[in-house]
Amino acid sequence: MSPISTTSVRYIFVTGGVTSSLGKGIISASLAKLLQARGYRVTIQKLDPYINVDPGTLNPYEHGECFVTNDGAETDLDLGHYERFLNIPTSQSNNVTTGRIYQTVINREREGAYLGKTVQVIPHITDEIKRRIKLLGETGEYDIVITEIGGTVGDIESLPYIESVRQMIWEMGASNAAVIHLTLLPYLSTTGELKTKPTQHSVKMLLEYGIQPDVLVCRTEKPMSNDLRRKIALFCNVNINAVIESIDASTIYDVPLLMLKEQLDKVLLNKLKLPMKQEPDMAAWKDFLGKLKNPVYEVRIGLIGKYIELKDAYKSIAEAFIHAGVSNECKVKLEWIHSEKIDAENVKSQLGTLNGILVAPGFGERGFEGKITAIRFARENKIPFLGICLGMQCAVVEFARNVVGFADAHSTEMKPETTHPVIDMMEEQKSITNKGGTMRLGEYPCNITKGTRAFQVYGKTKITERHRHRYEFNNRFLEDFEKAGMVPSGMNPDTGLVEIVELKNHPWFVGVQFHPEYKSTVLNPHPLFVRFVKASLEKANGTLMDTRTDIATGAYAG
Ligand code: GLN
Repeated sequence: MSPISTTSVRYIFVTGGVTSSLGKGIISASLAKLLQARGYRVTIQKLDPYINVDPGTLNPYEHGECFVTNDGAETDLDLGHYERFLNIPTSQSNNVTTGRIYQTVINREREGAYLGKTVQVIPHITDEIKRRIKLLGETGEYDIVITEIGGTVGDIESLPYIESVRQMIWEMGASNAAVIHLTLLPYLSTTGELKTKPTQHSVKMLLEYGIQPDVLVCRTEKPMSNDLRRKIALFCNVNINAVIESIDASTIYDVPLLMLKEQLDKVLLNKLKLPMKQEPDMAAWKDFLGKLKNPVYEVRIGLIGKYIELKDAYKSIAEAFIHAGVSNECKVKLEWIHSEKIDAENVKSQLGTLNGILVAPGFGERGFEGKITAIRFARENKIPFLGICLGMQCAVVEFARNVVGFADAHSTEMKPETTHPVIDMMEEQKSITNKGGTMRLGEYPCNITKGTRAFQVYGKTKITERHRHRYEFNNRFLEDFEKAGMVPSGMNPDTGLVEIVELKNHPWFVGVQFHPEYKSTVLNPHPLFVRFVKASLEKANGTLMDTRTDIATGAYAG
């Protein structure tokens, strides 16, 4: 028996009003952090109202990065925030889309499971939504489940979700569920006022759907006066202490402490009739923030990718650099560089003064040659380099072309007819034609060779990392690479697939087939990012060793 029965699991729903992009994900993660710091077991779920079954097939320009969980779910980037804040993994159950709900219901209908009944939004779609919301609570692993409803109240797409929330509150009773509504208080500079009307309207809309929010979190660029709080409380029918100010912050990592000051956690615990337990233990978090705000050093690292117009496309990488910077007491200044704009003529002026170069993950041919040019520059000029997924594959292609001597080396993703397919699709992947299902996804084991840079980074020989790709290093050419100085330092023990490559004759050059960025959290910065930033820092202050003598012993040290 689990220590807590599912009936006593409490559910907190987070809805949004007035406009999108108010930061429901960060508010949800911050509240969860505070409840966790009080000793509760908390998880967060995101419901997305779009028809895609998952965001795996979405272009990153649409909703930003696709976050991947241990169990291989392709999910909304908010799950990345949940993991970074809570330091516990999420799973497929933590992200549900309208597409997935409908797919389940329609499949069931085809199986005849509805016994000839007319299948309708209410009750069939709403029942499936409620089932998905309760799944996490039923695991017995959590005391509190926070469910974030994507979109804005009033959107046609989110109506079935709002209706499901109404039903759940009615079924579970008011002290087992709470609703937080996140709204915006626009500031009118002409009159110098924060305006409450959009908030009033969006709460009215929620009321029309049968939901009285318990807490209003108000996004604002100016502090709220008590009078304003009172006015909002009165018009929206909430307690004055449940009108929470969420003022613009300089970093998302400030928000848990801002919410602590506003007592968001206490308000919720009172509403849910749960004990306060201990005061939130935020010591480690405060330590992190202190270092984040008072860096001793600075490094400039180039992030080379093709979606750089939308920074959210590389969200987890950018956050991993923040965590790794703090570990090194250093501010990481990311220079976002478009791979399509790099060529042999301008590479020196674009990359010449960087302390480190990261080539990002990606799909398709656009910008590929710019990445190759950037990697050649990093390799030849001994600039610390980290290649992630496509970035690693580009490093393999570059090395094949310019060092091994395979002039037409390529990935078969970009050029299927190449005579040197150094990156290729494995046979078992080829048979899967259904897009979205063709990738190696989720957590896989990797064995690290002692005495390598990778071993120095991880400090152990057995690791697991998350994957999201179709193509792999082609082991047919492994010997050619090793002879020329690019060695595999991490291998999948079950399949023999190459997971990490590194250069012998370079101070810090690592390519990884997996995505380390998905595993970096505030309290557990990822060692690859930590070490890469450290090497970049050494490059910046001229102490980066040009040899590999810092790797004490091992396969090819010395
Ligand atoms: N496009 C490459 C592949 O499918 C790399 C994917 C990635 O960078 N995530 O293998």
